Amino acid sequence: MLVGVPLETAAGETRVAVTPETAKKLKAQGHTVRVQSGAGTRASAPDEAYQAVGAEITDAAGALGCDLVLKVRAPSAAELPHMKRGAALVGMLDPFDRVGLERLAAAGLTGFALEAAPRTTRAQSMDVLSSQANIAGYKAVIMAADRYQKFFPMLMTAAGTVKAARVVILGVGVAGLQAIATAKRLGAVIEASDVRPSVKEQVESLGAKFIDVPYETAEEKEAAEGVGGYARPMPPSWLARQKIEVAKRVAQADVVISTALIPGRPAPTLISAEMVQAMKPGSVIIDLAAGRGPDGGGNCPLTVAGQTVQVHGVTIVGETNLPALVAADASALYARNVLDFLKLVLAKDATTLNVPMDDDIVVACLVARDGQVTRS
Ligand code: NAD
Repeated sequence: MLVGVPLETAAGETRVAVTPETAKKLKAQGHTVRVQSGAGTRASAPDEAYQAVGAEITDAAGALGCDLVLKVRAPSAAELPHMKRGAALVGMLDPFDRVGLERLAAAGLTGFALEAAPRTTRAQSMDVLSSQANIAGYKAVIMAADRYQKFFPMLMTAAGTVKAARVVILGVGVAGLQAIATAKRLGAVIEASDVRPSVKEQVESLGAKFIDVPYETAEEKEAAEGVGGYARPMPPSWLARQKIEVAKRVAQADVVISTALIPGRPAPTLISAEMVQAMKPGSVIIDLAAGRGPDGGGNCPLTVAGQTVQVHGVTIVGETNLPALVAADASALYARNVLDFLKLVLAKDATTLNVPMDDDIVVACLVARDGQVTRS
């Protein structure tokens, strides 16, 4: 098949959906790979690296006009007209953006949104949410360490002792677990909160303390079980008790990293304006839910998506695309996720698309086909 790899045009997007490593594999499978000039440059993959493995370098129209287009983000309104009706598109297409999906369907594309893959063992190798959240969790800690004007580890020096940084992690999914592991490697003292009781053991195994908020009613317990491994909105009674416990920790924290999300819903508010006011000057909040909160904030209403702001001496970082700041490795992992997904939808002869409607991963990812949005 003719496989196109366009340069990503979304603001701040530095990743690329195919690296020279995966381009080589696609070539070996019999595909012709056309990469837009400069597509991999920001991810440390220059045009020459693609040419060296047999890919052709082309322009935007050349990459977008292929039978199979591999992207990181959904195509923009300017890109869509360059795509062929009947072409297949694989990327992070934002499965909760109904309007965006309707645009893909109207363009006659067969679209696969990789974020919609189930969180099952078989889907693990193509799980873009995990591969990218892992990077976000790591980068959040590195960024906090950079913004914070003190050490992370406890130090005993001839000039006196420096205390270890206190780090609070809110939301312990893939990003939160990596944030704990990274902060631990830097020597911080860490506490973490999540609605799901199953994460307590994982938090403790990484050497952090779990902020326990016991469930007092059957309704609270049931909500905490979540669905499909994901969190559900918790009853107000539990959230009120969690807020008290979290507020105590946040007031003492040097760094807070919040990652709490509920798929398809606004991110919960976990760090109120009053809590920020009670924090120590010089402390840092990295809000990974930036732009996904109820009013455009994140887990903190004072977060400004895409910006770093200072409030009462507290630095609040609202970076919305942390994986793009680790472009080379984020692309390497994403490109392998894409390659693995393609095994499910490409016929063995490498010339046709095959959409097995009895495959739960394919069905979950399929968002548009034959002019229709296929996701309810
Ligand atoms: P996510 O990004 O959707 O959410 C981040 C975390 O925020 C979650 O742990 C969630 O429970 C938590 N959260 C939501 N509301 C909260 C609140 N009010 N207070 C505190 N925390 C709150 O999570 P994710 O990283 O995408 O992981 C989702 C699930 O998928 C997890 O259960 C994870 O273990 C599972 N998972 C499974 C596989 C697999 O088996 N293949 C792979 C990856 C992830």
